[in-house]
Amino acid sequence: MLGVDIIVPDFTYLVENKEKIRGIFLTHAHEDHVGGLPYLLRQISVPIYCTEFTQILIRQRLEEKLPGMKIDFRIFKPGDTINAGSMSVEAVRVTHSIPDTCAMAIRTDLGIILFTGDYKFDFTPIDNKPANITRFGELGQEGVLCLFSDSTNVERPGWGPSERTVIDGLRTVFAEAQGRVLLTTFASNIHRMQQAYEAAAETGRRVAVVGRRMETNIDICERMGYMKIPKGSRVSLDDAKMIRDEDVVILTTGSQGEPMSALVQMSKGNYGRMQIKNGDTLVYSARPIPGNEGAIWRTINRLFVQGCRVIYDSPTPIHVSGHAYQEELKMMINLTRPFYLAPVHGEPRHQYLYGQIGKSMGYPESRIFTLTDGVPLDFTEKHAGFGEPVPAGRVLVDGSGTPGVTEDVLRDRYNVSNEGFVTITVAVDTTHGEFVGDLMLQSRGLHGPEGLLDQAQNWVYDVLNDMNKAEISDLGKVRHLITDTAKRAILKKSGLRPLIVVSIIEV
Ligand SMILES: [Zn+2]
Ligand SMILES: [Zn+2]
Repeated sequence: MLGVDIIVPDFTYLVENKEKIRGIFLTHAHEDHVGGLPYLLRQISVPIYCTEFTQILIRQRLEEKLPGMKIDFRIFKPGDTINAGSMSVEAVRVTHSIPDTCAMAIRTDLGIILFTGDYKFDFTPIDNKPANITRFGELGQEGVLCLFSDSTNVERPGWGPSERTVIDGLRTVFAEAQGRVLLTTFASNIHRMQQAYEAAAETGRRVAVVGRRMETNIDICERMGYMKIPKGSRVSLDDAKMIRDEDVVILTTGSQGEPMSALVQMSKGNYGRMQIKNGDTLVYSARPIPGNEGAIWRTINRLFVQGCRVIYDSPTPIHVSGHAYQEELKMMINLTRPFYLAPVHGEPRHQYLYGQIGKSMGYPESRIFTLTDGVPLDFTEKHAGFGEPVPAGRVLVDGSGTPGVTEDVLRDRYNVSNEGFVTITVAVDTTHGEFVGDLMLQSRGLHGPEGLLDQAQNWVYDVLNDMNKAEISDLGKVRHLITDTAKRAILKKSGLRPLIVVSIIEV
């Protein structure tokens, strides 16, 4: 998608129904759950409910994107219930790869709609705040109508490992590496960074941080008590350069191969503040988000060329997932005993496999729903089923920041970037219905056989010569004929489809 920087959801339905919206409830601060917020808040004004940690992480970015706008944050704690119109929302603590994540138990007249958000069951979380399993059991007894469950990791059998297991892998790498160790992870993975500090302290290394977002997050989290950095561990990048290589760890952003990130710039030798050295080791403590694989492997390859060994897979884990595996998904179903199942946060294959899990636990097909964006699931006293579709889909935002890049614009960009463009200028005397002067054809970025434009010009002349006075006065028709004829002529001779732009000058 040339030039497209951001894809956000189509909010038409929410905007059309804005008077019904009591608030936006955030389960956690990950980008795939909050990234669209600025685009929605430009169109509707509603309170945002979230935990303190979520607010800390997203406030600054929201304010940057919405200058001058007063954002109405309302902070809740896990366990709180918030009344919202005819419903109420109870936040129930779960574990995930970011602190203070909550599932949402939405109480309605028909029963509880339980929206898990992203979760896993980690019994030894870094912050010692496990999921509130007891409460999920109680909600099950009260009566859960439908469970909207995370299904991202449904392909993985068994139980996911605890975040705490990662420190063993980090410690091993930190102890064995001869030179500096770089570690890249998501800037929001506070617990991973916490463990990197601890492993560094245990192996006699000190830690510098590179990357604006990571630095900001660590600063705020240390100040607010979400991170505990061992005394003396933290050094600036400049100080790190004065320490022996085998005593240094550098935390950096760029785990998704983002072009502007510190890691990618380093891999290209373009980062002003530091260079990769022969003998460095990079720990890739993250997972590629689908679609980013190419950029990530290119970065890793460039690092190897510079003499940096990259560890992206190791016998002791250096990364664990924040999403529930099969047995954890089953545990959530067993605890909450929902009447209906509706997997979310997965692609169709994940939704399908989650349905299979439901079946293996005795759910009939009629009580399992595979949702599609924009198709409502309607509940009544005795029934649940799909309703009439509402507007949904995606809106493309390009560098201009104006949402709504259309498929037509993208197709034109694609054609121009692949096959160049041709402009054809013609002057028309509309009063007398005749062409004035010669056609002018120019091209940019077009590479075809010799005489390509001459042939196109000849074809267009043939067509223009056959037009009568009345037809020539119809400029729309003239434009269409010229475009169509030039397109066919170029395609026939070269197989190319450059973008063709016709300018008509009225004289
Ligand atoms: Zn998440
Ligand atoms: Zn997510």
